[in-house]
Amino acid sequence: MAKAISFWKKHRSRILPRQTVRRITLLNVIVMIGLYILVNVFTFGLLEYLLEENLDARLSHEVEHIMNAFAIEDGEIILTNPRELGESDLITVTENPFFLQVFDLKGKQILGSENLRYIASIPHVAYADEGGYHFVDIQTEDFPLRICTAEVLESDGTVSGFMQLATPKTGIHAVERGLIIFNLLTFPLMVLLIVVASVILARKSLAPVSSVINVARTISASNLQERVEYDADPEDELGKLRDTLNDLFDRLERQIDQISQFSDNASHQLMTPLTALKTELEYILRKDRTNQEYHDSMLVIRDRTEKMIQIVSTMLILAKQCEACVDGKSVFNLSRLVDKSVRDLYREEGVDFWIEDELYVRGKSEYFQMVLQNLIDNALKYSDNGERVTLSARRVENDILIEIADQGIGIPPSDRDKVFERFYRNPYSEEMGIDGHGLGLSLVRSVVTAMGGSVRVADNEPRGTRILISLPSMLLN
Ligand code: ATP
Ligand code: MG
Repeated sequence: MAKAISFWKKHRSRILPRQTVRRITLLNVIVMIGLYILVNVFTFGLLEYLLEENLDARLSHEVEHIMNAFAIEDGEIILTNPRELGESDLITVTENPFFLQVFDLKGKQILGSENLRYIASIPHVAYADEGGYHFVDIQTEDFPLRICTAEVLESDGTVSGFMQLATPKTGIHAVERGLIIFNLLTFPLMVLLIVVASVILARKSLAPVSSVINVARTISASNLQERVEYDADPEDELGKLRDTLNDLFDRLERQIDQISQFSDNASHQLMTPLTALKTELEYILRKDRTNQEYHDSMLVIRDRTEKMIQIVSTMLILAKQCEACVDGKSVFNLSRLVDKSVRDLYREEGVDFWIEDELYVRGKSEYFQMVLQNLIDNALKYSDNGERVTLSARRVENDILIEIADQGIGIPPSDRDKVFERFYRNPYSEEMGIDGHGLGLSLVRSVVTAMGGSVRVADNEPRGTRILISLPSMLLN
């Protein structure tokens, strides 16, 4: 147990974003306490209003009764129902006493209940709403009083005085006081409950964020398997955050895998010509050589160096996904590129070219020349001497279709996607001792894709390989 507590103390700041929890808790507490006070003030006001309404109803009811107990004729009081005035509530100070006084228009008291002597006088309020009652509160030396004033009418309807009926408000005050004491006593408990609830809520709502922080902390290039895990509906914001982050981690993992595989392969591929270069240099430096031997050796070294330059420049193009292959405005004449630069390179090999005139494509010709050379080199490399290789290009609707076909060993259907992967070589190429690094077709796909086109391997009947490239055609007016 002690161990668990000390672990929590040590790590809690890392497990939870404490600053944020504190801030949210504080905000919550302020809002909740504000609401609590507001609700209490409202309840208090409502209760006071209802109690007073109740008291006023009782007072006016009582006034009606008493009014029926006497009449005034020419300033003389005539008791019509003396029993009504003999009620104990009007004689002594009972639990709910009524104090009664009637005075004429000059303010002279003409009737008063017996219990009036127990309290200091009730101030005269010579005012009543027409045909109704008027209520006021006053504070006597003994208790607060609620007074109801009503007009006293003679039989002909003239106002001959006022009746005042008063009752203590101690009942209402007692209820109000009780409520205030109850609230004051429960307030600290409420604050405590609000704080605890706010902390729990803030922690619960921030738990996903903590999970994100923890995963982000543990993730590194060598440990990309971690994923953010928490329960949330994929449709809500937290669910979307989790899925987006996990997608991002997936993509990062894939990219880093590719990069490390690429650098492994690249070092491996460069190692072969570098070792050959070293062997050649060691051989030539072992003893004094004739001029001819030095010359021959220099030629070998130049070839090896050229090969390395080729590998490195291809890798540079691939690494940047051939950003330089298109610049948004360059357009070149494909027909002229083939006629002027490519055809001559393969005059000896007897490659057939079938190119329509005036084919324009977007991109840079030097990169597309690399594409054509790589494909023709492959077609020649993977065919026997003397087998025909053809390159054709024609416009089909809005596209230009380029086809390089040979009658060589062919690419099995299972390999038709793989051959475009970097450094992939079909085992038979190795077995047959055909030289290569598995980079040519990757470069082809990278350049063609950057130019907005596509490339695929198709069947060539009865044998051989057919590479089909489709590029958007540019029409020059
Ligand atoms: P390099 O990097 O020198 O081009 P490579 O020719 O081996 O090496 P790619 O051009 O990328 O690499 O070709 C990948 C693989 O696809 C080859 O190793 C070969 O197995 C297969 N391939 C490509 N073109 C042909 C073809 N015309 N006929 C048969 N197999 C082919
Ligand atoms: Mg190749």
